[in-house]
Amino acid sequence: MSLAHGRSYLAIPGPSVMPDRVLQAMHTAAPNIYAGELVDMMPGIMSGLKNVARTRHFATIYIANGHGAWEAALSNVLAPGDKVLSLCTGRFGHGWAEMACSLGATPQVMDFGNATPVDAAHVAAVLREDHNHEIKAVLATHVDTSSSVKNDIAAIRAAMDHADHPALLMADCIASFGAERFEMDAWGVDVMVGASQKGMMVPPGLGFVFFNEKAVAARQELPRVSNYWDWEPRKNPDQLWQYFGGTPPTHHLYGLRAALAMIEDEGGIEAVWARHEHLARAIWATFDAWANAGPVALNVADRANRSCAVTSVGIGAPNGLRLREWCEAKMGVTLGIGLGMGTDEDPDSTGFFRLGHMGHVNAHMVMGALSAIEAGLTALNIPHGEGALEAMAKVMAEA
Ligand SMILES: *Cc1c(COP(=O)(O)O)cnc(C)c1O
Repeated sequence: MSLAHGRSYLAIPGPSVMPDRVLQAMHTAAPNIYAGELVDMMPGIMSGLKNVARTRHFATIYIANGHGAWEAALSNVLAPGDKVLSLCTGRFGHGWAEMACSLGATPQVMDFGNATPVDAAHVAAVLREDHNHEIKAVLATHVDTSSSVKNDIAAIRAAMDHADHPALLMADCIASFGAERFEMDAWGVDVMVGASQKGMMVPPGLGFVFFNEKAVAARQELPRVSNYWDWEPRKNPDQLWQYFGGTPPTHHLYGLRAALAMIEDEGGIEAVWARHEHLARAIWATFDAWANAGPVALNVADRANRSCAVTSVGIGAPNGLRLREWCEAKMGVTLGIGLGMGTDEDPDSTGFFRLGHMGHVNAHMVMGALSAIEAGLTALNIPHGEGALEAMAKVMAEA
């Protein structure tokens, strides 16, 4: 018996649920790319993106996934042989450092583990030891999607200032962009990367790179940057092709325009952040109740360090795998795989699963997913505390 027939729900941390309004906006004939609507809507899209990023500086869109945005950002500020300091709180921090390495830079990795945030005081101490200022950039992940650790980016900036270090601060906001409070200018971030398919509710394929004048100056000192990644011709475009170094991602742009309009209609990005924060509190209350008995445990202990966009949960190997398979087959809810949490006994992270709650999600979707998990815990005889769904409803009732 399966109760999955009906509208399925992809509750993984990206790609996220695509709103009908975005899909309908994309369902259109091929537009002229030389004049007309597509050309006219670009300034509005770029200013909308900057509002979400909270920056007055430069915004660019690359036809790429998040990995492409990583490479675009690094390519504009690093030359082979440059040193970067990479602050890791999960798999994605390591991934960005590996990308820097593959571009010829030398990453110095500070690994803060998979469940706790960056220790800014420790970062300051390392930077103070860099007497010759060889470190050109500090790479920080705002929300690491594997661990669901959220880092205090303003505190990292303060540590850099405290150490009087001139490195660029670069932030990976791919998981949090459009979902979780992030203030590029106010927090002193020089380069920020995001992508379309998580909080922004658009299919994968657009990578966003934001940068300020300090980053522009770093670019101008480089002997060369590959033509496609170079942000110089993209930063003040005059013609449509200059935004993209070629043919624009026509249909993604229609989808993105619709997504930005939805953010405005909700009351702006502050309202979007507040919705994510409230839904996250309901999720935490539910898991905290389950954790009262049995193996279920939120990966990040301290609320202040938890993401409001994705939640990583430990449940004992191979219960993460069993629960995901059951929820998909029986309930029509697809949960995210455990990622980067492997151990010698459980190399594939089957003792973990993740819940994505970024973008086009509301109370009944989150309540449905959590209720499906409760059914799964029961069906699979995984011990769990009582009263979780009541705790969930209580937080939702505060809306
Ligand atoms: C999803 C994600 C990436 C990778 O993005 P892709 O689009 O899969 O290439 C990088 N960093 C973080 C924090 C992410 O959440």
